[in-house]
Amino acid sequence: MQKPSNVAQHLLTTEVLVVGGGFAGVAAAIAAAKAGRQVCLVESRAYLGWELFATLRPWLTAAEHEKLNELFNWTDKTYTSDSTSGEQAVIPDACKLLLEDVLLAHGVKLLYYAHVIGWEQEEAGCRVEIAGKFGRRYICAKALIDATQDGRLVRCLPTSARRSLAEATPYRTIEFTRVDAQRLQELPMRIPEDITSDFIVHQGHEGSGHLLIEHALPAVADLLSERVGDLDVRAPFFSMTLARWLFEHHPAFAKATLATSSYELTLPPLWRLTGSNNANLAEKCLTPVGEVPLAAFYAQEGLWVASGCADLADDTAQAIATDLITLLQLGTAIGQRCAQSCGELQITRPVATYEPPIFHRAVETLVIGGGTSGASAAITAAETSDTLLVEMNSGLGGTGTIGGVNSYWYGQRDKFSGEVSRLVADEHAWMGIRDSAGRWNVEAKMFALLKAACRANVDIIFRSMLVNVCVNEAGAVTGVVVLTPDGLLHIDTKVTIDATGDGDVAVLAGADYVYGAKRDAATMWYSMAPVTRPGLPRNNWTSSIDMDDVEDITRAVLSARRRWVGHDHSPYIAPRETRHIQGEVCLTLTDQLRMRQWSDVVYVAFSNHDIKGQSGSDWIRLGLIPPNLEIEIPYRAIVPAGIDGVYVVGKAFSATHDGLPAIRMQADLENLGCVAGIAARLCVAEGVTPQTLPVDTLQQRLTQSGMLAESVCGRSVPDSAPELTEADMRHWVSQLNDAVHLYAYSDMEFDEVRRDPIPLVEVCTAGPAIVPILEEELRQSHSPRRITVAKALAWYGSKAATPVLLAEIARHLQGDELPMRDANIRHTQASPDQGAMPELAYLLHALAMTRDERALDILLPVVECLHPTAERFRDNKSGVFHYVDAVCEIAEAIASPQCVPALEQLHDEALFHDKMLYGPLQADYFEERIAYVEVTIGRALARCGAKRGLQILVNYLRDTRRSLVRYAYHELKDITGKSYPPDAARWQAWLTEVDEIAPKPWYQEKGQT
Ligand SMILES: Cc1cc2nc3c(=O)[nH]c(=O)nc-3n(C[C@H](O)[C@H](O)[C@H](O)COP(=O)(O)OP(=O)(O)OC[C@H]3O[C@@H](n4cnc5c(N)ncnc54)[C@H](O)[C@@H]3O)c2cc1C
Repeated sequence: MQKPSNVAQHLLTTEVLVVGGGFAGVAAAIAAAKAGRQVCLVESRAYLGWELFATLRPWLTAAEHEKLNELFNWTDKTYTSDSTSGEQAVIPDACKLLLEDVLLAHGVKLLYYAHVIGWEQEEAGCRVEIAGKFGRRYICAKALIDATQDGRLVRCLPTSARRSLAEATPYRTIEFTRVDAQRLQELPMRIPEDITSDFIVHQGHEGSGHLLIEHALPAVADLLSERVGDLDVRAPFFSMTLARWLFEHHPAFAKATLATSSYELTLPPLWRLTGSNNANLAEKCLTPVGEVPLAAFYAQEGLWVASGCADLADDTAQAIATDLITLLQLGTAIGQRCAQSCGELQITRPVATYEPPIFHRAVETLVIGGGTSGASAAITAAETSDTLLVEMNSGLGGTGTIGGVNSYWYGQRDKFSGEVSRLVADEHAWMGIRDSAGRWNVEAKMFALLKAACRANVDIIFRSMLVNVCVNEAGAVTGVVVLTPDGLLHIDTKVTIDATGDGDVAVLAGADYVYGAKRDAATMWYSMAPVTRPGLPRNNWTSSIDMDDVEDITRAVLSARRRWVGHDHSPYIAPRETRHIQGEVCLTLTDQLRMRQWSDVVYVAFSNHDIKGQSGSDWIRLGLIPPNLEIEIPYRAIVPAGIDGVYVVGKAFSATHDGLPAIRMQADLENLGCVAGIAARLCVAEGVTPQTLPVDTLQQRLTQSGMLAESVCGRSVPDSAPELTEADMRHWVSQLNDAVHLYAYSDMEFDEVRRDPIPLVEVCTAGPAIVPILEEELRQSHSPRRITVAKALAWYGSKAATPVLLAEIARHLQGDELPMRDANIRHTQASPDQGAMPELAYLLHALAMTRDERALDILLPVVECLHPTAERFRDNKSGVFHYVDAVCEIAEAIASPQCVPALEQLHDEALFHDKMLYGPLQADYFEERIAYVEVTIGRALARCGAKRGLQILVNYLRDTRRSLVRYAYHELKDITGKSYPPDAARWQAWLTEVDEIAPKPWYQEKGQT
């Protein structure tokens, strides 16, 4: 086993670091902050309050409710609903939101999605290492409080121990809506003993039909020898057996809906501190089983324990773990004590490194990520190879289940995906769900995938995060390290399938990647799905997230929770796009529009061009919205360049920002996962690696298994498209037609596919030899294709297009308002989604491509007619976003100081001025789109030589929205040629010294995106 090579980087320094955002952790953080300490709280999940929400126990006793109100000053805040049972039913999102608010109000720095993987005791304090999708970082703190349910810090100590409880009974909860309360009263539940030995019915916050059934799982005799990971896999089978029995045997459930089930088991604390010893601590803490000395919660200098993992007898530990009032009191007491002592803390212990227990395993195929692509990859690989699947959540399906996106959109619905649908339909049948039309119940799909994976002998570890990768001298991935509920696991593997959706394995192995779009780092919008009512997640279109940055991940979670406050939010952040891991082939939109064939094709995807966010494509800017296409995926796009031993499937495989929108659909990614599973199987069987696997052998296997049409095997595909003859060129020019709008290509039914070449695409990719033919056509004053021909000429940078474009622009520029979009373009949401613009914006973009100074005159008239207001910006037909974008593109294509007045006038508009965000969150996602526009104006001003533009870009280096920082930084470096780090102070110092800057035009090589 090679040692992983990654070195963690410093993230921040604080006084008190609280690990674990349950109620005790929050109380501790607030107490320490109130005592004047600088406090940071890290939580591995995407929400606070795991005691109620991870285990799905959202109910409070009256006393607990009162204590929370008193401690957090929530007396007038609504987060519970009354119930007749004596319990208060908690509204998950409302409570999570209040917990966040109370932390933020006390100045606590909160970090989500951060997993503690070890810590060090140093002379000056502690150094805690965290890992996550952002890689590895460390936090320096004077004192630590371990407030996790499983003793994440405590268990790293040599003096801690895992306890074997004589017998422990795990519990889980299943949630239903639409239960017939009347029938329930008439006919009490008599659940057979062999299904569950114990169950309690709790009322949900929605009223009588909303029930939560907390039920016992079979008792575990010896928790010491049991892997928590194994329990996690077995547990859903018991809950689903119970749910099925209710559906089939109890009339009150005949029309019920299974909403969700616990993410985590309710288990007694397994780890226990031993040998705590602090004679100076005489205080006592009241627990449900009597008084306990506070010293039991003191591990050593600088480390406190605010959970049942303290030095306690088993029954006391268990009683504390489930008693919210004790946890709150304990957290408060420890937070105060820790704050008090950390000022005068004298570390006397030697420098030491503490890690959780480490286990080792070897497998043939390892799949990291059990989501849309990973579940199918693992199920397929396991057919003939020993396969382990590591998943950070507690169920399979990723974005399509726990991420709340519970429906297909385009994609090839047959092949492996068809099989998945059949399996889901089997679960739907007993739930009484009939015609689901490409939608599914999240629990049904998660369970169908779990059953299929278990049947296929996939070994699964849930709630486990990739934290490092082992790479040999040749640059091949030979293993990984994951943090599991049972400790750190080193896994040796022959083939790894990176199905994390973000290319986490490949990135840790050193693969090149592009985050979002190459130029402006724009990504399609992420989602943390709002669950408006129990079991009803909602698709949504909001803003960007940067998975490379734990602070940005936290910002995105905080913002998302404030966008829709309903029942709850998904615990899994599902971005539409993050990293594009670079393979030898990187799929572009141009490849797709040209219907490019690949000799190493391994799959054919199918979709419309579903861009949710800003497009960087010149095709879209000309007005060409792509039709539904079948898109070949080459093998070289799923193998990262220069790195062996690993496949990248899911949305992170090699494509550009504009190449991704049509190849990311769930049905296709389920199938692509299956392709990778077959490839991995072959590698294992033949003793080869992903880089050396003969692709024709793989293609044969794929055709045998029905994943690939036979016609593509052995097909001869030229390396590049044949050159067009003059006759061909004339033919394609003759096919252009102004009467048919370019956006109309997208106007297709769901089952339609465009297979014929697109004339404009043929013209624009023919090469410069076509320019004289286009110019000849343009000279014909009555040509029925003059505008489209002018657009094509603009694509080639021909200034011959300018007069025609200017005349057409003048025709649209009537009156003192810019025209709105009048075309109905399918599937549009708020701008800039789908690239749906008013025709005038397309013409302005085309004009920019000519880079002709005659375009200068148009800038001010457009700016003067823009009248940008917040209301108009939100109206997806007004085109405000696109008009500003087009004006900026014209200015920076010419890069003349003469453009500056128009750009300054734009920037003087209140809507686009000083839209930076230096705070922790922003609920209104339009504000982010407006800020993006301001950066674009800044970039255009800077490219025209105006210092004001540079100042705008420098201002955004301090923005909390990381995608905007990336954007501004990229432009600053490109415009100035300086390579300072992205540090606002450094750039500001430089800017103060600069008198003037030279204009720097922007030009984008056409067809590359
Ligand atoms: C908001 C939104 C709406 C969409 N709408 C639709 C739609 O309506 N229909 C449609 O067909 N497609 C839709 N898509 C696209 C489609 O859902 C996604 O492209 C697809 O699900 C992504 O699959 P994936 O395998 O790449 O990632 P995921 O399905 O997200 O799977 C990744 C898995 O890896 C796990 N994981 C990640 N990192 C790690 C790690 N480091 N260690 C361990 N485990 C890890 C995750 O928990 C997850 O289970 C939408 C996408 C989004 C985000």
